[in-house]
Amino acid sequence: MARVLAVANQKGGVAKTTSVSSLGAALCELDRRVLLVDLDPQACLTFSLGLDPDALELSVHDVLLGRLSAGIIITRTPDGTDLLPATIELAGCEAVLLSRTGREHALRLALAEIVDEYDFILIDCPPSLGVLTINGLTAADEVIVPLQCETLSHRGVGQLLDTVHDVQRLTNPGLRVRGVLPTLFDGRTAHCRAVLADVSARYDIAVLAPPVARSVRFAEAPGTGRSILTTARRSKGAEAYRSHARAIAGVAGVGTAAGIAGIAGI
Ligand code: ADP
Ligand code: MG
Repeated sequence: MARVLAVANQKGGVAKTTSVSSLGAALCELDRRVLLVDLDPQACLTFSLGLDPDALELSVHDVLLGRLSAGIIITRTPDGTDLLPATIELAGCEAVLLSRTGREHALRLALAEIVDEYDFILIDCPPSLGVLTINGLTAADEVIVPLQCETLSHRGVGQLLDTVHDVQRLTNPGLRVRGVLPTLFDGRTAHCRAVLADVSARYDIAVLAPPVARSVRFAEAPGTGRSILTTARRSKGAEAYRSHARAIAGVAGVGTAAGIAGIAGI
């Protein structure tokens, strides 16, 4: 049965989508069977893996509304991961779901049919704390919070953790917070480390090491339809995501959640 990880932060541009595609590709390299779920109406994950969201007839929104089973829509990406794609119609789906009983469970129920076909399911949440993100958190075993280290980043984490606690109380008692994943990290500034130390202490949350450094290589990848694991195979960014994938998969000899101490030497 697949382990389901949601990647969530209601702030845009913190590398949620990049983390989902890169971790997915890295888990595939470890011979794990991986499904990626695009839960963002902007469909950036779908686009970045080589599909044109505007040309898709069917998408995750048909699944959330109970019209089709997920297996019919899933496609294989060039990275080797499977993808449950999104289109802009997902924005309308949000409004329809709001009027439905059990709306928070739509994704969990849809994934239940295919959960045995994968080792990992990674969910790319949209930049909001609305019903789609709550569906992602309700379907998940764990949540990873990508965080761009800048002043006030901690406020977003606090709001997200409030939502996580609501989900734990109301729809998914088993949900665990895996930790904060530092992204767009600039190790040269003390400021980045100070932000991480503050977030870690303030919310008693693990900081996952290693941080993913800011690099221009990431900006190039989405246009190619492949993740950075392929477009910049040996880059530090690709290696950082490989390291996190090994930790997630429980492969020996890797850095896991090291706390802030693990970041200090960067
Ligand atoms: P989100 O899904 O949180 O909105 P994205 O994954 O789409 O964020 O990333 C936002 C932008 O930042 C994209 O253009 C992406 O290519 C870029 N990006 C992601 N990670 C890095 C990084 N480590 N270094 C530089 N650019 C990055
Ligand atoms: Mg995104």
